[in-house]
Amino acid sequence: MRNSLPKALSIILVLALSLGAFDAQAWGFFGHKRINRLAVFTLPPEMVTFFKHHIQYVTENSVNPDRRRYTVPYEAPRHYIDVDVYGDSAHYKMPRYWNQAVEMYTEDTLMEYGIAPWHVNRMKFQLTDAFRRRDALAIIRLATDLGHYIGDSNVPLHTTKNYNGQYTNQIGIHGFWESRLVELYSDDYDFFVGQADYISNPQLEAWEAIINAHNALDSVLLFEKELTIRFSEEKKYSYEQRGQQTIKVYSRDFSRAYHTMLAGQVERRMRASIKMIGDFWYTCWVDAGQPNLDLLIDGFDPEKEQKRLKDELEQQEERKIKTRDHDPYVGELYDFLKYDDLDFDRFLADHPHLKPQVNLVNKYAEF
Ligand SMILES: [Zn+2]
Repeated sequence: MRNSLPKALSIILVLALSLGAFDAQAWGFFGHKRINRLAVFTLPPEMVTFFKHHIQYVTENSVNPDRRRYTVPYEAPRHYIDVDVYGDSAHYKMPRYWNQAVEMYTEDTLMEYGIAPWHVNRMKFQLTDAFRRRDALAIIRLATDLGHYIGDSNVPLHTTKNYNGQYTNQIGIHGFWESRLVELYSDDYDFFVGQADYISNPQLEAWEAIINAHNALDSVLLFEKELTIRFSEEKKYSYEQRGQQTIKVYSRDFSRAYHTMLAGQVERRMRASIKMIGDFWYTCWVDAGQPNLDLLIDGFDPEKEQKRLKDELEQQEERKIKTRDHDPYVGELYDFLKYDDLDFDRFLADHPHLKPQVNLVNKYAEF
């Protein structure tokens, strides 16, 4: 791909690469796995044996929804909601229920800026139904996916259009907050969140997560800004070896200072995710009439399911390439990228529909 690219495009792709360092994996792979896994331990005795039996599945597949983002239409907006595009304090004022929100903003607009809280509620119904049908495989699959979307909903940078600090000159902050800090410090977090509780209104609960996450956003951005003034560029970043590659990371000193300033914020958001996942799983089970899960423990063939997942992944790899080659927006993007003096942030703000394509191009650009 590299050799066939015009020079201007190559330059822009470097920009795209730095911008696209955000890959929309809230909590990173590491965090999602830890959160889903720990949620199992909040469950009551009637549920915990079944979930422990499948804990590896629930853990390893917690990142499947992110893998689907580039291949399944409508997948991407399920992971976030840019509440700030709807005005000041919109996270308090927006309609809570899907139909009311569609009426107010249209479905296209909602899909454009993310539907996380409504998707969590939709999955709540699907999981309840799976419990009701006593369909062991569907229960585990849906519970695993639901855990992912709940985790995402608790991440401050998943509630804003400035999701990677691209409007405030803080590009990279997304991965810094949700991956780097989690990997460096989460071993010391207290993950005892107690027993799962019944949720009387799952839709409002899904919004509660967005509200809490969004209220934490100011400090996420402000503290990084303040520290950037105190740290020189050389002190802010360092290089670490990952396998064969040397990668640029936020330095340990900078990470420590930021983590200290956040005063337990990452830990609180992780704990909230774990507790909320447990609460949702438990609520679905109760609403389904508390089926006896011990009878379902061998309800599906794990090897067959593993094979299906492997095939699905391979198909996704294939489709990704097709999506790139045949996606008309990629052509449109390439047309714009001819201009050397392009203001990339402005460009994306003016052409939001090209945002996913930038990530796509980034994903396949080889340097
Ligand atoms: Zn996600």
